Amino acid sequence: MAPLLEVRGLTVELPTPAGWVRPVNDVWFELSAGETLGLVGESGCGKTMLSLALLGLLPPGARTTGEAWLAQRNDSRNSGSERLNLAALTERERVPVRGREIAMIFQEPMTALNPVLRIGAQIEEGIRAHQPELAAGELTRRAREALEHAAVPEPELRARQFPHQLSGGLRQRAMIAMALAAGPRLLIADEPTTALDVTVQKQILELLGRLRRELGLGLLFITHDLGVVAQVADRLAVMYAGRIIEEGPAGTVLRRPRHPYTEGLLRASPQLKRRKLEPIAGAVPRLGALPPGCAFEPRCPYRRAECSAAVPELRVVVNDVGPVAAPRHRARCILVEAG
Ligand code: SF4
Repeated sequence: MAPLLEVRGLTVELPTPAGWVRPVNDVWFELSAGETLGLVGESGCGKTMLSLALLGLLPPGARTTGEAWLAQRNDSRNSGSERLNLAALTERERVPVRGREIAMIFQEPMTALNPVLRIGAQIEEGIRAHQPELAAGELTRRAREALEHAAVPEPELRARQFPHQLSGGLRQRAMIAMALAAGPRLLIADEPTTALDVTVQKQILELLGRLRRELGLGLLFITHDLGVVAQVADRLAVMYAGRIIEEGPAGTVLRRPRHPYTEGLLRASPQLKRRKLEPIAGAVPRLGALPPGCAFEPRCPYRRAECSAAVPELRVVVNDVGPVAAPRHRARCILVEAG
């Protein structure tokens, strides 16, 4: 079956006083309907910029190359083509796509929600943008339904409230209701649980998992937290300095990481059985001053002279138990034997 989203060589360039930099650099991946792809990495690795490129929300002056093909739903309101290239849409062409085809849940709902508009009105606004013909009563009914879908208790009361009257967990549920109100098939969740305490975090992850299954959503889950992504992702893509440096089935990547950066992220991630966290030495390099060759080389405990020669290709990882390549597990490191 064709993927819901197929990203091919997507690159984003931003102008700086010192020249153009690439926060997203030649990124390739696929996401199927009903699947969750976890996009992980430290702050500044390019995860959020990649999602903003898909939504067409890049900062002024940014330029994009490459392709991001979204399969169109089969109904009378699509443009007639089977796929849309999100990377090539004009601002006008994006209007019917945002919300209806692709939506985003942001990290901090308090800043993403409008503080002076009631929750119900904000959800209705998103539905009205795509179906202006709906009567006021129908909009109200659909907004309440969206809140119910997002497991918001007392949806009628919550719809009449302002964001500051809701707890952090309820605000995030309201954001989810808003994102899903127009029925998108691709949902981007950018650190959706970072601002929540651990029990509410678990409820939100379960809610996203249920909605993904029930609605057949493709979910792009962005996080720096490997503990969180382990609970939700089918596949993982690890980003560093704008590139995907490791990708594969979530269980395989988390159990047997093959890139030293992924290994470092796992060692730095809190676990009950680990008494001491081991942070990765150094910091993410500035995009304007990337080392030649492997961008992780200055921080890598296994570096060798060849690492600086050229940017390593993504190589298929050969399974530890034999010469069979683990399904779609790849890492961008010269230490990975080519499969
Ligand atoms: S290519 Fe070299 S520097 Fe880069 S991750 Fe692999 S071993 Fe480390």
